Amino acid sequence: MCGVIGILKEENVQYDIALALQSIQHRGQDSCGLATKDKKKFFLEKEDGLVASVFNHKTLADFKGSIGMGHVRYPTMGSAGKVNAQPFFEKQPGIFLTHNGNIINYHDLRKQFLEKSLYLTSSCDVEPVLYVLAEELMKLRQYGHTTEDLAVALKETYKRVRGAFTLVGIMYLDGEDTLFACRDPYGIRPGVWGEQNGNFMVASESVAMEMTGFDYRGDIPHGSLMVFKKDKKPVTIEIDKKEHHPCIFEYIYFARPDSIISGHSVYDTRLVLGRMLADKIKRKGIEVDVVIPVPDTARPSATAIAEELNVPVRDGFIKNRYSGRTFIMPSQYDREFAMRLKHNTIEGEFKDKRVLIVDDSIVRGTTTKHIVSLVGKSQPKELHIGIFSPPVYYPCYYGIDISRQHELIARKYKEYYAEGPDVFEKKMAHFTGADSLTYLDISDVQKSLGQPVCSACFDGHYPLPLREDEQKSIEDDRDEYQKN
Ligand code: AMP
Repeated sequence: MCGVIGILKEENVQYDIALALQSIQHRGQDSCGLATKDKKKFFLEKEDGLVASVFNHKTLADFKGSIGMGHVRYPTMGSAGKVNAQPFFEKQPGIFLTHNGNIINYHDLRKQFLEKSLYLTSSCDVEPVLYVLAEELMKLRQYGHTTEDLAVALKETYKRVRGAFTLVGIMYLDGEDTLFACRDPYGIRPGVWGEQNGNFMVASESVAMEMTGFDYRGDIPHGSLMVFKKDKKPVTIEIDKKEHHPCIFEYIYFARPDSIISGHSVYDTRLVLGRMLADKIKRKGIEVDVVIPVPDTARPSATAIAEELNVPVRDGFIKNRYSGRTFIMPSQYDREFAMRLKHNTIEGEFKDKRVLIVDDSIVRGTTTKHIVSLVGKSQPKELHIGIFSPPVYYPCYYGIDISRQHELIARKYKEYYAEGPDVFEKKMAHFTGADSLTYLDISDVQKSLGQPVCSACFDGHYPLPLREDEQKSIEDDRDEYQKN
């Protein structure tokens, strides 16, 4: 879970990059980095913490250049901390590279490099990708690389590097500074581009374009390379293209609602998912007096559900804006402690009412269980839970931090599914302490975008094939770097 930005414009590109990074801060809060190039000078700064605290007017004044990139990181491979912050730089032939995603054969690549006595300086999975790309470019020529060279080198890189990724790079191509971006063959992770009077921008989410005055133009096509040069038409070259499978979890939880990804509005998709869940709730015969979202992700879906059920939607929870993200706390104890700080209730919205609480997903179950016990004190008449995604049964190996099977609560109750979905949902409701719990059906999620999606965390169908040892190496990696 990370966010990437690349911008090519006039001078002092660093200010726009810092602004754009702040708009995608939700994609990663562990560390951030910014790199620019000014003629033959390279600038790079990476640090732990949030963009606004690392890059202020004073620190940004140290940068120069008309081309640059930025990154916000939440680790899904390797440890947290500055050592793994991006972007990375390779002197020969002079490339800055950053990515969002997971390289599934990272541990193999690392081993191959070690066998050649090539040591990596981090445990971040973009580092070996950079070395592979540099190696492939240097095989073609030592200097004076062209766009065609980059496409050839990337074709070879895609054979050696497998994963779900959106890469952003800067290098000197065809005699000028060039911004490039490419996405994995299935386009699992998002990547969009925009334009502003001959200037160009790439980003994980379209919201970053609105913040910086760029016009959103669309997706960087999956499996393809896009090359941007100042005042020239962008060039698109196919590298390795398979059927597009955007990650549905981006729409459910991860992306900002005001973003457009792969041509679909995240906000509208949450409305659609809400309507589908309302249908199921009606079919189950559940009747409620009020719908209350768990802030903030669930708001649009809760509104749609309330409209369908013909009842009001109310703010029953107040979120402490200054509490950290509970999901990323290192231990279960920390998460539960932080959870208390995060939400409080407005008692009158629950008391003596039949309430439907709506949230986006259940991963470990910590949030739902905590919310139910919190609301219990306000004495609702009935307490129902609606989750606008299916049960998370399978780890994500493609860059969303749900990478360890043993921590997925739905998996612990999966055996009951054989007795029927209702039995399973009853068991989950019992676990949380609610009167009922309704998940969205997988078939609804699969039709929500009107195109194939990656829903591997729900159905176990991984579009990008990965071997058992690769799955294990990713789970072991998370076990090593995250405590239980
Ligand atoms: P949990 O408490 O572990 O069940 O996590 C579920 C809650 O965390 C949901 O309310 C989501 O809003 C949020 N969430 C779900 N997936 C993630 C993720 N990969 N990273 C951070 N937060 C998440």
